[in-house]
Amino acid sequence: MATAVLLAAGSGERFSREVPKQLLKVAGITVIEHALRAFESHEDITDIIIVTRDDLLGEVSELVDGKFTKISKIVSGGATRSDSSKAAISAIDAGDQEKILMHDAVRPLVTEKIISDCVLALDKYDAIDVAIPTSDTIIEISNGNIESIPQRDKLRRGQTPQGFRLGVLRKAYDLLNQEENFHPTDDCGVVAHFLPTIAIGVVAGSEVNIKLTYPIDSFLADKLFQLRSAQINPVERESLQASFEGKTVLIFGGTYGIGASIGSQAEILGANVEVFSRSSTGTDVQKIESVRKALSQTQEKTGRIDFVINTAGLLKISRLNELTDNDVQDLIGANYLGAVNVARASYEYLQDTKGKLLLFASSSYTRGRANYSLYSSSKAAVVNLVQALSDEWVEMGLSINCINPERTNTPMRVENFGSEDPKTLLDASVVAETSLQVLASDLSGSIIDVRQ
Ligand code: C5P
Repeated sequence: MATAVLLAAGSGERFSREVPKQLLKVAGITVIEHALRAFESHEDITDIIIVTRDDLLGEVSELVDGKFTKISKIVSGGATRSDSSKAAISAIDAGDQEKILMHDAVRPLVTEKIISDCVLALDKYDAIDVAIPTSDTIIEISNGNIESIPQRDKLRRGQTPQGFRLGVLRKAYDLLNQEENFHPTDDCGVVAHFLPTIAIGVVAGSEVNIKLTYPIDSFLADKLFQLRSAQINPVERESLQASFEGKTVLIFGGTYGIGASIGSQAEILGANVEVFSRSSTGTDVQKIESVRKALSQTQEKTGRIDFVINTAGLLKISRLNELTDNDVQDLIGANYLGAVNVARASYEYLQDTKGKLLLFASSSYTRGRANYSLYSSSKAAVVNLVQALSDEWVEMGLSINCINPERTNTPMRVENFGSEDPKTLLDASVVAETSLQVLASDLSGSIIDVRQ
């Protein structure tokens, strides 16, 4: 168990933007909220202390209000990073053995594993750094010229979080108070300088755990979030059952493949499952009236709609210039307009139940694919739609997520790609299982990869 400190009192001079970088929005939410989510959702973290600038105290408090349960204090930072660390250390009300993780709030991509590894390493060490090897050769300069070139394989790039037993951190910072000419850039630096006999362990960081420093970093972070699949912690069968028992699940495109598998699994969990598709009920997701009809019929029949899932999709292998006008309309219609229609029409029903919508992307969404450009670009649009709607819907208590299955063994795939080694394909039932776990979770705005 550990207390996390989020340092968010920087001015972001190198960033040169109006909004301080900790409050910049990346992938839908602010940078500091991303960092907070990582610590809030981590089972080893009991408390979070935020250090921020005096002038941002109000804004930060408002931003986090009601969203996080582990924040125990929000305190004012100082002029330098170490002044801010000092402010946090004074605010911690715990014994010397308490494990403390000091984290730059501007590293929004910190992973669950890095946090776990730090907490664990503090059983062995009193101080822990997180670092990655450097691929660049580092040069030391003096007056603009090279002074030395340290041996690269001995060098690491320090990141955060950095972990400490509180007593060690307190002692090091007490000593820092007595020296004016030392300007550390991180907390391990303070311990290394003043308590040289303390061994500082090193935990592997990640190339992805970047610190937003320059304007380009916000674009990189945005892309990295796009590529990062959300994590779900699968729940046991009983709680899955509790989420679905007596609830109504409406599936568009559920006659075969993934949709059908979700339907049969949801039924076993005790849900009322209503399936609509072009082939079984003549429901065409491209037509909003058709979608509305399916929803109103279901509402009339079961009195509620808790989960709406759209697995309807259309794939046709062909170069764009060889598609007919109808093909183009159909491909964008089924794969993108369909998702838009289902989202628009489901909204009012899901509002009543604080329900959930699940859409489907494909692994081709991250990069356009030759010969099925409209399929892959529509799937990219669906991912973007999910992120946008999750922000629009959050206040109403509705959630929306997107499953991104790898190559899956479905009739649509077989029809387009012929027979492939089944061992290289995902089973539709595995994708269905993850889909139900996502519907039972409190995620929203997430893209969940399903891989073999
Ligand atoms: O200065 P640097 O870019 O290394 O900042 C790293 C982290 O320290 C950032 O999250 C920043 O908000 C924080 N910081 C702080 N107080 C300062 C300066 C930086 O909390 N005075």
